[in-house]
Amino acid sequence: MFGLKPDAVLDLPEKHYVLEDYEKGIARWCDGCGDHAVLANIQKLCREEQLDPDKTVFVSGIGCSSRFPHYMNTYGFHGLHGRAFPVACGIKHRRPDLDVFVITGDGDCCSIGAGAWIHAIRYNVNMTVMLFNNEIYGLTKKQQSPTSRVGTVSNTTPRGSILPPLHPMQVTLGVSNASFVAQTADWNPAHMYATIKAAHEHKGFSFIHILQRCPVFQPKLVDEWTSNRDNLCYLKDDNGIIVSEEIEKTFKNSIDYDCSNINTARELAQSNDKLYLGLFYKDSSKETYDEYGAHNLGATIEDKAAVLNAEFDKYGI
Ligand code: SF4
Repeated sequence: MFGLKPDAVLDLPEKHYVLEDYEKGIARWCDGCGDHAVLANIQKLCREEQLDPDKTVFVSGIGCSSRFPHYMNTYGFHGLHGRAFPVACGIKHRRPDLDVFVITGDGDCCSIGAGAWIHAIRYNVNMTVMLFNNEIYGLTKKQQSPTSRVGTVSNTTPRGSILPPLHPMQVTLGVSNASFVAQTADWNPAHMYATIKAAHEHKGFSFIHILQRCPVFQPKLVDEWTSNRDNLCYLKDDNGIIVSEEIEKTFKNSIDYDCSNINTARELAQSNDKLYLGLFYKDSSKETYDEYGAHNLGATIEDKAAVLNAEFDKYGI
């Protein structure tokens, strides 16, 4: 006998998750692909926030970045092209207790998924959304995407693309009810981590536009920003993305900013003079649609049957 009284309660420590609890498999992205940096930061966030893997879901569409859920040891759904948003919204409506992340690329989100994207913003469903933008279809080996710049030579535009690109920040900020819109870059992991953390803390649809390197099909895409610090600017805002002094010093340019003004945010998104990193806009006061959807979660089978029968009776002859 161990001398325990029958009603003794063992004071066991709570489960503490380590990085390995969130890791799964070996990421099959090319060497130098920016997706690796985002994955590392997300796994770090999960550990820092001690997210329960059983209550965390990553939903994606189709594309290189959409392989993301395979590398997270959480729940995940690698779905149809452009359809991450409807799936994620459905999950959040039925299971508001889950932490929902959406992973989507520029081809996935801004082309076939554009309608779903716009309405998910409008519904302000409480989830963290990361748009990986490398301005090309990588998985299918170099076709122009909706965000490709004019002149981009690809397999579908051998003489260079002619359409002006769609800008994800301008679109998101243009939709009524946008509540959190931020921009970061995969080559600045500290800024990216601070951005993902702030997005995750925000209650509502948190949209992060991530400038992402594709060294295979867009090898020079980010050179103008990585080789010349004059072209980058940090948005300094006590209510925005806050980085350490050491990281702040790595930016040659910064501006004092107020992320509560939607008009300033829209002007900034249209500006081409620099790449601005930080939180463009935040409004924490907006209601989230998933809360409405969750209202009837406690209804019994009888309650639901009564509502359905009442509806059917309207059409009775
Ligand atoms: Fe990454 Fe480009 Fe390779 Fe796709 S093709 S995994 S985006 S580097």
